[in-house]
Amino acid sequence: MSANAPDHSYLAINWSDIRQRVDGACRAAGREPSEVSILPVSKTFGAEVIRAAVALGLHRFGENKVQEIRDKSGPLADCGIDWVVIGHLQTNKAKDVARLVSEVQSLDRLELAEALHRRLQVEGRAIDVLVQVKTASEESKYGLPPDQLLGFLDHLRGFDTLRVRGLMTLATQSTDPEEVRGCFRLLREWRDRAAAQGHVLPRLSMGMSGDFPLAIAEGATEVRIGTAVFGQRTIRTDA
Ligand SMILES: *Cc1c(COP(=O)(O)O)cnc(C)c1O
Repeated sequence: MSANAPDHSYLAINWSDIRQRVDGACRAAGREPSEVSILPVSKTFGAEVIRAAVALGLHRFGENKVQEIRDKSGPLADCGIDWVVIGHLQTNKAKDVARLVSEVQSLDRLELAEALHRRLQVEGRAIDVLVQVKTASEESKYGLPPDQLLGFLDHLRGFDTLRVRGLMTLATQSTDPEEVRGCFRLLREWRDRAAAQGHVLPRLSMGMSGDFPLAIAEGATEVRIGTAVFGQRTIRTDA
């Protein structure tokens, strides 16, 4: 490494720290660490930082804007990255999603499912999707209202390009851990209700750097971690 090359050694430290903390949260909840994976969220971080994370063995990255995936996927084309959309998705981005993305966790309305399906058919591809459910009461949070979930899942059966694997949510911003945990519990309960209707949804994507132990206690199979892996973001995002 040249003297001027940026030093990304903090990534290895952060990654092993967060894995240990996730493992600890699993044990505290009486669960196996192998049941919970970590999706590193690379939004606002540049291609060279992501390349350093790839060197650690990471190959799936969460982004909340399709534009960022467009910008980064070119310079990182040799890395074999699976890009995961976790942010609010406009239907006019469906074409880029169909070309560039391996999974969408923020599927929250029929119009979007239709747009993705149409574009994926053109590309001859199918992708994994999670349905984002609104479990928090804040106005600004996206997601499908929980009482519409079962009907929505029935509709999604008509789209063979969308492999529905589970549910995703963002908890309330509340400082009250019981309120936050209540959001995660709600997602798990709706998963169970869907299962009773024949919808198999093994994956629950819930929990971020600040609240993942609560999500793991409520059954998360995947936590989405940005800050604790990549550091504090200096650019504001609307997530
Ligand atoms: C940014 C973001 C995360 C990660 O948040 P951190 O607090 O940085 O871990 C997780 N999920 C979504 C949907 C996000 O937009």
